[in-house]
Amino acid sequence: MNLEDREKDTKKNNKKSPKVLLTVLFFVLAAIFITNMARNALRAKTRQEVSYDTFYTMVKEGEVTKAVVGQTEIEIYTKLSSSKYSPVVTYYTLKMEDPNRTAFLLENGVESLQKKKDSNSVLLQLLLDSFPFIIIIGFYIFLMRRMSGGAGGIMGVGKSNAKMYMQKSTGVTFADVAGCDEAKESLVEIVDFLHNPGKYREIGAKLPKGALLVGPPGTGKTLLAKAVAGEAGVPFFSLTGSDFVEMFVGVGASRVRDLFKQAEQNAPCIVFIDEIDAIGKSRESKFSAGGNDEREQTLNQLLSEMDGFDPARGIMVLGATNRPEILDPALLRAGRFDRRIVVEKPDLKGRMAILGVHSKNVKLDESVNFEEIGLATSGAVGADLANMVNEAAITAVKHGRAAVSQKDLFEAVEVVLVGKEKKDRILSQEERKIVSYHEVGHALIAAIEKDAEPVQKITIVPRTMGALGYVMQVPEEEKYLNTKKELESMIVTALGGRAAEELVFDTVTTGAANDIEKATEIARNMVTRFGMSEEFGLMALASQQDMYLSGRTVLNCGDETAAEIDKVVKRLLEEGYAKAKDILKDNMKALHEISAYLIEKETITGKEFMDIFKKTTEGEEPENNEEEKL
Ligand code: ADP
Ligand code: MG
Ligand code: ZN
Repeated sequence: MNLEDREKDTKKNNKKSPKVLLTVLFFVLAAIFITNMARNALRAKTRQEVSYDTFYTMVKEGEVTKAVVGQTEIEIYTKLSSSKYSPVVTYYTLKMEDPNRTAFLLENGVESLQKKKDSNSVLLQLLLDSFPFIIIIGFYIFLMRRMSGGAGGIMGVGKSNAKMYMQKSTGVTFADVAGCDEAKESLVEIVDFLHNPGKYREIGAKLPKGALLVGPPGTGKTLLAKAVAGEAGVPFFSLTGSDFVEMFVGVGASRVRDLFKQAEQNAPCIVFIDEIDAIGKSRESKFSAGGNDEREQTLNQLLSEMDGFDPARGIMVLGATNRPEILDPALLRAGRFDRRIVVEKPDLKGRMAILGVHSKNVKLDESVNFEEIGLATSGAVGADLANMVNEAAITAVKHGRAAVSQKDLFEAVEVVLVGKEKKDRILSQEERKIVSYHEVGHALIAAIEKDAEPVQKITIVPRTMGALGYVMQVPEEEKYLNTKKELESMIVTALGGRAAEELVFDTVTTGAANDIEKATEIARNMVTRFGMSEEFGLMALASQQDMYLSGRTVLNCGDETAAEIDKVVKRLLEEGYAKAKDILKDNMKALHEISAYLIEKETITGKEFMDIFKKTTEGEEPENNEEEKL
């Protein structure tokens, strides 16, 4: 915020109570100084010149007390009791060459002074007189500044500019946002509204006032809002929902007021309210137990501002949230955020495009293949992908390479998904063996189950995010639907690690906690949401809550049914586990050989894995076929 705006703010804040006293004090002092100055000015004007002779006469008459001898004139100070000469008039005479003067004045008892410099400038005098006045004004301004929060503190609550964020131009365009073409299409329209609102007015169309960007975190909602401003070439005013939520009631509302006032002055422009759920939570919802006056006031102010402005002036309000389900319905009503623009997680094509956008200024070598990376990063959002490209570039530099290779990118994918390698965590020999069999158990089942994704890599190097080892699976193509068979395969694969531990070591470890959680969630969703169990058929038993955040589901059925559901889930898991053990029992030789190799190498590629797997099963294949025939 620039100085001018702060000044404006200062003026506005004068209305507030603690400043009234100061203002009164200021005016009293100002009045005193002004009268004083006026008197001085008057005195300066009522000067009267007398002749040198008259001066002599005055001295002889004994009317003079003091004579101040300057460069060109002599000021004559008369007695206050004088009846002949006025005490408010300053008499003076032009100085003459007079060697006797000093003696003459002495004789008549007149004090004679030598003036260093003539104060012939009225202006200088005025300046000297007003010096204290200037100091007071300065002090006043300083105090007001302090009070209006330039230096923060409790007095700073009324000040909103500090956190409000205004960009003359964002410098972001639609070209910087990849992989959300539908959202961009809707926003192109908004850019057009801002460009030529007249076109729409003429035909009688009402312009939309606002649009709400909805989607999971990191999908580029903030980026898109900036891109709209950038494309339209208009200023961008933004506030984040959490900025509003302060301890002082009324601050949020005044911020909203300020925001819209400034926007109106700068129209056409974009007003962007990020994380709008922080203020826009439904007023009746259970989330706001006890009520929150501050938030409610802020929300009401926002609603009234949105009703108040004329969209034809070219103000477009954009909001962003990843929790649309908790927003107050009043916000979503027509005439407010009446458009909802969904920003989804990017698909394969989108991910490849985002990788492209972010590696525009990164040197890549010829091994780089975005499609492979895109396939390995299903579920990643734009922010993750941007992060990955940067991590890869850093890795390349660390290894002293001039360009980023595919290997660097894959490493970055792992860093973002499972954390950095944690080489200083030393596992004991026994633990390494267990982890190794566990991971190979997953990998073998993935390779044998036709519906599972191919193995890309197996490693037993621990990661910072807790994994002691893991199997990286990369699908051959992007999937939007999962069949029942695929889900069952996922359960079997997830439980493969535990199955291997039990078969080989006849014991189980805590290492399977994550796998069990994953398998249970799949099984539960199959029963409650996907209609994939015989027991419940097509009955919807749960609904999703935070669809863009945790994806949490909530059961909506009675207790008895819930108990019934648990039984079915348990059965699915048991079946999956039995199948996992069966598969591994049939492939014991491969399990041992690959595990031994993995313990030695720590990390093996999918190809190495498949080579050993094929070698060990080749001899058995006819056997298997015979079994099948039997
Ligand atoms: P959100 O507001 O949805 O949480 P952001 O817009 O803040 O996400 O995205 C964070 C960063 O991730 C952006 O600054 C950008 O670098 C990157 N990003 C996210 N989505 C995209 C996308 N679709 N295209 C290009 N970059 C993206
Ligand atoms: Mg954001
Ligand atoms: Zn596991």
